[in-house]
Amino acid sequence: GKDNMDDCIILENYIAGMFVPCKRLLDSHDPSTGKVWAKIPDSGKLEIDAAVAAAKRAFPGWSALSAHQRAQHLLRVADLLESRLDEFAEAESRDQGKPLWLAKTMDIPRAVLNLRHFAHTIPHQLNTSSVQPEPGVFNYTIRESVGVAGLVSPWNLPLYLLTFKLAPAIMCGNTVVAKPSEMTSVTAHMLCKLLNETEFPVGVVNMVFGVGLSAGAALVSHPNVPLVSFTGSTITGRHIASAAATHFKKVSLEMGGKNAALVFSDCDLDACLNTLKRSAFINQGQVCLCTSRIFVQRGIYDEFLEKFVAMARDIKVGPPTDPNVFLGALNSQPHLDKVRKYVQYAIDDGGSVLCGEGVDNLILQKEYQNGYYMRPTVITDVGDETRCMQEEIFGPVVCVSVFESEGEAVDRANNTKYGLCASVWTSNVGVAHRVAHKLKVGTVWTNCWLVRDLDMPFGGVKESGVGREGTQESLQFFTEPKTICTKIV
Ligand code: NAD
Repeated sequence: GKDNMDDCIILENYIAGMFVPCKRLLDSHDPSTGKVWAKIPDSGKLEIDAAVAAAKRAFPGWSALSAHQRAQHLLRVADLLESRLDEFAEAESRDQGKPLWLAKTMDIPRAVLNLRHFAHTIPHQLNTSSVQPEPGVFNYTIRESVGVAGLVSPWNLPLYLLTFKLAPAIMCGNTVVAKPSEMTSVTAHMLCKLLNETEFPVGVVNMVFGVGLSAGAALVSHPNVPLVSFTGSTITGRHIASAAATHFKKVSLEMGGKNAALVFSDCDLDACLNTLKRSAFINQGQVCLCTSRIFVQRGIYDEFLEKFVAMARDIKVGPPTDPNVFLGALNSQPHLDKVRKYVQYAIDDGGSVLCGEGVDNLILQKEYQNGYYMRPTVITDVGDETRCMQEEIFGPVVCVSVFESEGEAVDRANNTKYGLCASVWTSNVGVAHRVAHKLKVGTVWTNCWLVRDLDMPFGGVKESGVGREGTQESLQFFTEPKTICTKIV
């Protein structure tokens, strides 16, 4: 690809350590202006076959290294990535639409941490042993690399989520073919260049760019890809699960959410409001963990609503490069159209739109008027069974509703097909834990949100996911244990 950020950049697939041009190209838009800024390969079966073959060739050599040796390679990439943080953050913000400050403080630092975390932890977790004096044996397990892992990632946190799969996959000795989102492929491509700069062993990481239905589908159904790790929407996850089932592949699915916040009358309201501002709207509301339903107890409902709406109205929306914006642009025109449609559904269902879309103006400089911007939008008066309360919107839209009792709040929070995460706001420790135990989700935050320890399991229940990621869980997914039982007496 070309390096000049101002021209249109052209990405190439990365196969066996080489950049391979693709004849068919797709346009990738800069969400802040709506203009095409990158062209990415429109890869299909041919390119996937070549990448899987390269990964398969690299597997024996890479898996034979010790985990410590593999860690040395990852740590070199992490250091180089950290030294290029600004360059990567600019590309991520431009490609995805998020504020530059967010890419600098969250996305790229987390990508660096992903590489370092798994490089540091996996080498110490591989084997276990036990002694059984009675039959006179000792057992030990070795965790073995599986083969070529197929990684499919979404556009909301591009390099952040890709490296969360890539690092454990290769630390466990697998080789990889990754298919980043066609909406945000640029930082993945830049990472390939870093790999070559660090002289990373050839073929261990291969990257094929293109759309889900061709490149993605060819990857997840490939007979030589025994492992598939996916993050994205529930509808795509369902396709992938069925494509993988016929080959008995191991599959990890991180999918959509419809996350609730339960705000009790005795909470620290200011702290709660500050965090809910982030949890409802950060990254333009495009984090799988974003809060989209807020249930507030009767005693503080009016005060909460007034303060929350005032705060949402105060949020500055604009070009991602402006350090004062809290929200940049949504990722694409079709996605913006979809999110706006949900505001209309709310109105059709008798809801009230208190601020944001259709209520408040958004004034943008000429250059940005074709960008995909939307103001934070707060909705009330929508019933629990309406589309806005049941379906994932994945934008800066949140519904607020009043509750009376703890039991009611729990039942209503659980009344969705999703089960990714929730937050609970109360100063009563008993309530916090009792409610946390009853919520049918993978993660509960009490009096905080999006605080992550990568050792902790991460993932969803119900239609939000199958499997978990995190030190132990990723290790289990990306390896197969073998038990060896040896007679000693
Ligand atoms: P998406 O499902 O449209 O696409 C995700 C990836 O899957 C892309 O790379 C896409 O090209 C690929 N893909 C699409 N169809 C495919 C197919 N048939 N076979 C193989 N690959 C295919 O999701 P998106 O719009 O990019 O991302 C937003 C969604 O991701 C939201 O639902 C969000 O909740 C979810 N998400 C979940 C998590 C989590 O950890 N649970 C994290 C981030 C995002």
